[in-house]
Amino acid sequence: MNLIFLGPPGAGKGTQAKLLEERYGIAQISTGDMLRAELKAGSEIGLQAKAVMESGALVSDDIMIRMLAGRIDKPDCKKGFILDGFPRTVPQALALDAMLASKHMKLDAVIELKVDDSALVERIAGRFTCGSCGTGYHDEFHPTAKAGVCDKCGGTDFVRRPDDKRETVAARLAAYHQQTAPILPHYAALGLLHSVDGMAEVSEVTHSLISILDTVPKT
Ligand code: ADP
Ligand code: ADP
Ligand code: ZN
Repeated sequence: MNLIFLGPPGAGKGTQAKLLEERYGIAQISTGDMLRAELKAGSEIGLQAKAVMESGALVSDDIMIRMLAGRIDKPDCKKGFILDGFPRTVPQALALDAMLASKHMKLDAVIELKVDDSALVERIAGRFTCGSCGTGYHDEFHPTAKAGVCDKCGGTDFVRRPDDKRETVAARLAAYHQQTAPILPHYAALGLLHSVDGMAEVSEVTHSLISILDTVPKT
């Protein structure tokens, strides 16, 4: 099953993708995580992307399309993938269509997670992840069971993203509304778009997603 999770920064795409990977045996592909790995490795792409990401703007379509092209051929995508954070512009969506067609692959569903801008600011400001296993948390909405210790791996090292500062969030939301939201009609016209209320609790959102994904016609 090949899926796209669309939604503004902080909508819960990563949280839900991680919860559903195992159920459907498909791989989460987060282009944000891929870029952060390039940054950490100090690669050419990482160097080019750093300032853009920290400003809250989008990295060039050219870099992103090249980055994704090899990723969906990896063995963990054999049963499918969840694209989390790609496509983010109309040219990226069109490039993805062409890429999948050339590989005789298809999208099964595009899920839009709808969350109000005011709630997103709170979600992003409180977001942190385990530095060892990448599990996501929130200061208020999803704290670790034991303070300072990861529920999943017992790690005690946590990271916050530099672009999760309140000042940068406004720029990221503007990029979503101006550059990413215009993709939605493209998938609606193809009959692939499903919108889900992302304001509900994590488990409720998961429930809504499962009821959609269990019934979409699979290719
Ligand atoms: P995205 O990948 O769309 O940017 P995340 O999955 O990282 O969003 O979620 C952003 C923050 O909000 C995280 O700290 C996460 O724990 C929290 N969060 C995710 N889903 C919900 C929800 N339904 N209700 C409250 N907080 C949530
Ligand atoms: P979020 O989880 O808040 O939605 P991501 O982790 O997906 O954010 O992305 C972080 C940053 O990485 C973006 O603000 C943007 O600068 C860059 N980025 C990630 N994916 C893309 C993409 N498909 N196109 C352009 N820029 C991207
Ligand atoms: Zn951990």
